[in-house]
Amino acid sequence: MKSIFENTATAFALKTDAELERAYFLFKMIANEPLVRIGTAMTNFAIKAKLPVEGLIRATVFDHFCGGISEKDCLPVVDKLFTKGVSSVLDYSVEGKDTEDPLDEALEMILKVLDFVKEKEAIPFAVFKPTGYGRFSLFQKKTEGIPFTAEEQSEWDRVVARFEKTCQKAYDLDVALLIDGEESWMQDAADELAEEMMRKYNKEKVVVYNTLQLYRWDRLDYLKALQQRAAQDGFKIGMKVVRGAYMEKENERALEKGYPSPICGSKAATDTNYDTVVAYMLENLDTMSIYMGTHNEESCYKMLDLMNHKNLAPNNPSIWFGQLYGMSDHISFNLAASGFNVSKYLPFGPVRDVMPYLIRRAEENTSVAGQTSRELNLLKIERKRRKI
Ligand SMILES: Cc1cc2nc3c(=O)[nH]c(=O)nc-3n(C[C@H](O)[C@H](O)[C@H](O)COP(=O)(O)OP(=O)(O)OC[C@H]3O[C@@H](n4cnc5c(N)ncnc54)[C@H](O)[C@@H]3O)c2cc1C
Repeated sequence: MKSIFENTATAFALKTDAELERAYFLFKMIANEPLVRIGTAMTNFAIKAKLPVEGLIRATVFDHFCGGISEKDCLPVVDKLFTKGVSSVLDYSVEGKDTEDPLDEALEMILKVLDFVKEKEAIPFAVFKPTGYGRFSLFQKKTEGIPFTAEEQSEWDRVVARFEKTCQKAYDLDVALLIDGEESWMQDAADELAEEMMRKYNKEKVVVYNTLQLYRWDRLDYLKALQQRAAQDGFKIGMKVVRGAYMEKENERALEKGYPSPICGSKAATDTNYDTVVAYMLENLDTMSIYMGTHNEESCYKMLDLMNHKNLAPNNPSIWFGQLYGMSDHISFNLAASGFNVSKYLPFGPVRDVMPYLIRRAEENTSVAGQTSRELNLLKIERKRRKI
């Protein structure tokens, strides 16, 4: 198992030579930090000024990282991925807004996605983001324990109703549902809601998955406390397990406000925390399901070893791996080729609305140590293998 991710022929089997070249060109561009900074500023400006840049964005970053502008648009990509055993998670990537209309639109879209994906083997999960369903500051206020005004209380009741409606529908249609994790200073309120949903809908099997961000050092204790409540109240725990996407913001805020940072003190500490929690969940697979959202090869290899050691079938229904579309195909496709459950987060939405997501991908691929050089290196190896 130790070297399955090195197989670039499997990793890029779906890419034509031209697509391979486009990916190579794209990652070369976003490896260049000044270029990303200038490109981001120019794109933001062009979009605000309503300049006709959408075609250019679509032909480059958008098509590499997104499935399309609507859920239907994503279907050819979904079907193509599934020919290699890779499933999809349709991710409506329009980011949190502060007025009610977009929140209701997000709800309608997720409900539509649930209808769309039911009985579609290639799309076993739907996903939503808490702040897609409610104002960030409302989640924050709840997390901080500050009492709501009457108006805020009814606004919060609407947030709860959106969670309810989505989870009820996922349960009725038997589609698993992932709830994304966000910033720690609003997350307690989201966790409480997700727990309520698990209590209600995860009685027989896991329908609702919350997210554990393992760059937070307090999460194993949180999981153990949740496990006790789950045992008492008779429900199962579903968790997407990620390292966490908001590290800089978290550290900066903690420093600015003078509280201890919730983030592990080093990358190595985050890695240990991640692997420890995954191993703990695997020990408790009778009551827990894991969705490992990671591009980290070592963590995946560790999971494969543990599964092997425990004689678990690769396609055990309680264990899923997930990567983002457009990244780490060497992990996704090689895992799928070995029979593991793998899915790609496939973002979709109007080009303008998906821009923050795309900019984050570009920045992450520039700044996350090793990520871009790894993608580039793999693409280089495959170009050489194909002699292009
Ligand atoms: C399918 C999928 C779903 C995701 N969903 C979410 C989500 O709901 N919420 C969310 O927040 N993120 C989410 N992410 C993003 C994820 O949290 C990571 O940011 C990203 O995947 C990079 O981490 P990695 O495990 O792939 O591995 P690596 O590249 O090995 O790890 C990078 C991560 O390690 C941590 N880290 C880096 N340096 C340090 C340091 N000095 N000290 C402490 N920690 C450090 C950070 O979390 C950083 O993102 C998701 C990712 C995937 C693939």
